[in-house]
Amino acid sequence: MQGAQFVLAAHRISQLPADQGAEVAFAGRSNAGKSSALNALTNHKGLARTSKTPGRTQQMVAFSLPPPVQVDGQPPLDVRLIDLPGYGYAKVPMEMRDHWKLEIDAYLHQRRSLRGLVLIVDIRHPLKEFDRMMLEFCFATQLPCHVLLTKADKLSRGAATQALAALRKGFASNSPHATAQIFSSSAGTGVDEAREAVMTLLRT
Ligand code: GDP
Repeated sequence: MQGAQFVLAAHRISQLPADQGAEVAFAGRSNAGKSSALNALTNHKGLARTSKTPGRTQQMVAFSLPPPVQVDGQPPLDVRLIDLPGYGYAKVPMEMRDHWKLEIDAYLHQRRSLRGLVLIVDIRHPLKEFDRMMLEFCFATQLPCHVLLTKADKLSRGAATQALAALRKGFASNSPHATAQIFSSSAGTGVDEAREAVMTLLRT
């Protein structure tokens, strides 16, 4: 996932790059650590804008990965990562929240090149409404989903392992497409595993 490049920021799904090739979307509550995770995965510190002020960036951002990802015998694919707007920050005006709820919903339902979702969850916080909504969507539509339990450096190794086990237990037994791992952008924990998971989603 080296060599990722900013393509564009969009306010509507109609402004995203043409719906062809393969992409993986990153979603998470504001401040969960999504930008930091994207930067760690692409090994590009300034790729996604990290912020101490949650909810500041309200855009969908498309990044291209260097071609080609070739799936056996097929022509090379256009491959992208899509950073969905952080969700759930109270200070974002209601209208904007409604706008993004609709756009994210439309994106998940309509985007044909979407191969999977990476859901970023702060390991210290149990799944919140937004996280559950995203997981339920994936279970219902069989969209593969990979959860990064991030900021794992904030917990002891034992507590982090417990949190992962609890999350996996909570995955419905009929969710064979959901996976999860421990992650920390600061400590570099789980970065290779997460890269592998994203590449697997892209090749699906
Ligand atoms: P986003 O709103 O989900 O994109 O979150 P950011 O990536 O901007 O991170 C929000 C805050 O959490 C920032 O202050 C980051 O420095 C911090 N943060 C992100 N990832 C980690 C991590 O793995 N460990 C720790 N300790 N802090 C993190």
